[in-house]
Amino acid sequence: MAGTFGNPEVVQEEVDILIIGGGMAACGAAYEIMPWIGAAKDAGVDITVKLVDKAAMDRSGAVAQGLSAINTYIGPNQDPADYARMVSNDLMGITRDDLAYDLGRNVDDSVHLFEEWGLPIWKTVNGERFDGATWPKEGGKLLKDGGDPVRSGKWQIMINGESYKWIVAEAAKKALGSDNIQERVFIVKLVNDANDKNRVAGAVGFSTREDKVYVYKFKACLLVAGGCVNIFRPRSVGEGQGRAWYPVWNAGSTYTMAAEAGAELTMMENRFVPARFKDGYGPVGAWFLLFKAQATNAYGEVYMTKNKELLNDYPPYGQAAVPASCLRNHLMLKEMKEGRGPIYMDTVTALAKLRETLSPREVKHLEAEAWEDFLDMCIGQCGIWVGENIEPEKKNSELMPTEPYLLGSHSGCCGIWASGPDDVGAPTTEEHPDAALIPAHLPQGWNWGYRSMTTVRGLFTAGDGVGASGHKFSSGSHTEGRMCAQSMVKFVMDNKDWVPTLDTPVETLVEEIYRPVRTFLEHKDYTTAIDVNPHYITPRMLQFRLQKIMDEYVAGVATYYTTNGHMLAVAEEKLGMLKEDAMKMRAKDLHELLRAWENYHRILTAEAHMKHIQFRKESRYPGFYYRMDYNLVDEENWHCFVNSVYDKETKTWTVFKRAHKDLVDKSK
Ligand code: FAD
Repeated sequence: MAGTFGNPEVVQEEVDILIIGGGMAACGAAYEIMPWIGAAKDAGVDITVKLVDKAAMDRSGAVAQGLSAINTYIGPNQDPADYARMVSNDLMGITRDDLAYDLGRNVDDSVHLFEEWGLPIWKTVNGERFDGATWPKEGGKLLKDGGDPVRSGKWQIMINGESYKWIVAEAAKKALGSDNIQERVFIVKLVNDANDKNRVAGAVGFSTREDKVYVYKFKACLLVAGGCVNIFRPRSVGEGQGRAWYPVWNAGSTYTMAAEAGAELTMMENRFVPARFKDGYGPVGAWFLLFKAQATNAYGEVYMTKNKELLNDYPPYGQAAVPASCLRNHLMLKEMKEGRGPIYMDTVTALAKLRETLSPREVKHLEAEAWEDFLDMCIGQCGIWVGENIEPEKKNSELMPTEPYLLGSHSGCCGIWASGPDDVGAPTTEEHPDAALIPAHLPQGWNWGYRSMTTVRGLFTAGDGVGASGHKFSSGSHTEGRMCAQSMVKFVMDNKDWVPTLDTPVETLVEEIYRPVRTFLEHKDYTTAIDVNPHYITPRMLQFRLQKIMDEYVAGVATYYTTNGHMLAVAEEKLGMLKEDAMKMRAKDLHELLRAWENYHRILTAEAHMKHIQFRKESRYPGFYYRMDYNLVDEENWHCFVNSVYDKETKTWTVFKRAHKDLVDKSK
């Protein structure tokens, strides 16, 4: 029966494996899983799989606009252990070497696949540089053999990536088959198994285009719905609010759904505050790395040199060849706080210097590459440069640290505690003095069977979902998705006779999801103005409240990223009230229903962030946030993971320490 807005159709499906999300990690899993399902079939086990994305895979997730670089490519002459060292230093020493090393030794294979699928990777052949436009072609096909990828940094390679996501999604869709893909379905929650609280048995969501609720049952699930944006008041205002550095469509679904299912989270205090071109959020990497530009204060002083001494406050992370990202912000913020802003990217000097050594033709080509860098991944920045009459060779551009974002695959490491590989000597027992405080049902050590399974049986994650191991980027997220495909098939084979039983009746789930719609329909005629009503709050207004709380009390831009125990206590109380009021959100159409549930996911993610910052009594990430009552990095007491579990019945968090251990020698 076709549904109506007040009475949605309920579609129930049972599959063995559900993939939630259609981004880089999901595409990796979708591409990889079919051969393993084929192998299972040969062994007598039939496995079905489905992928659901809230949007359309061709342009969904963080790579939607395209990218201009693949940020993780190890290459033939580099050591994955060095990559693990870099990840650790950039994230101030608290990362999982087992996850980073495992990623490093596998990631290149995904990059080679991207090239095979048609992604133009810039190459140098016999000293001459080729990009997508100039690379020799035969019969319209790029000649790919030979040449070395053009590196913009030790781990990054340049691409013509406007169509990156199309290319990767196409391969995923072709491999999985369109019958196994459902687009424009927003998953709201996971459902635990009725007979095993610590296991997932299903998921429920709704169509963003039709009046339909989807209820899925499964044996295993890959939750890869990206990171979280818009929990902090954004710098952009009015119509510009749709512009943030992080893509506005990832709303913390990964962290909230995992937390509600009982999964252990890790390092949720971590955040990423990228310093980017102001207002357009255009990428700066190519300017720093490829064009050798420097960032200055308003007086032309290079703050990375001027404030270098500050790095000595944070050994060893400040003294590495490339200091941790947060510390680079720390040096910039000193200039801003002391009134020497705006901060600029000195494009004028950089391009003038290039002119000294390059021919006019080569300079022209480089300038085209600089524009291409924006056009590939951030067209809006070109709009700003054009609108503000910025010619980079004549006028410098402002840089600005953004509002905070939560993610686990870029230069951040919040996420879910996931099982690592079993062959790199990760600890198997918990060694921290506070280990007794870890809830008894949680595993000890870093490996408990299936690579990338969370602490909830049957629930896997990758990309932004996996915590304590940032710097995976697009290629690494794809790789982690592929690893999950393999381990999920193994899990399903090992549990082939297990039957999932939802712990909540389907009618209750449907009622819950459509509650904002019912609230609207029941009360809409009480007033004459649709947005003003004592019985409900619009998702937009609720989002303003969340952003104001986080901005003012949990170290947003309003306080120059500072907070303290008192401010966090206020935030805790206000977030508690906001959670109550969230039950009164209205949805006047399917679009608002989406906004309502995105907000719900944001609130719980924000609460996790706040609880972790409250628990960690130090400032581990200066430049990203400062606890002014503990304004130091305290290696003695806090060189450890901070992890947590959420109890969906009592709506409370248990936060605790887990021991950290270096698995690669950090003295090298
Ligand atoms: P995503 O790719 O973001 O995918 C998330 C998916 O989940 C999307 O399909 C989304 O539609 C879906 N989804 C979300 N919520 C739900 C829900 N509730 N129900 C169903 N589906 C849902 N990497 C590089 O290699 N080079 C770069 O230059 C680079 N630049 C970047 C610039 C920016 C601004 C950002 C944000 C990231 C950049 N990255 C770069 C990193 C890269 O984009 C990410 O590492 C990667 O996309 C993470 O993959 P993921 O699958 O975890 O998340």
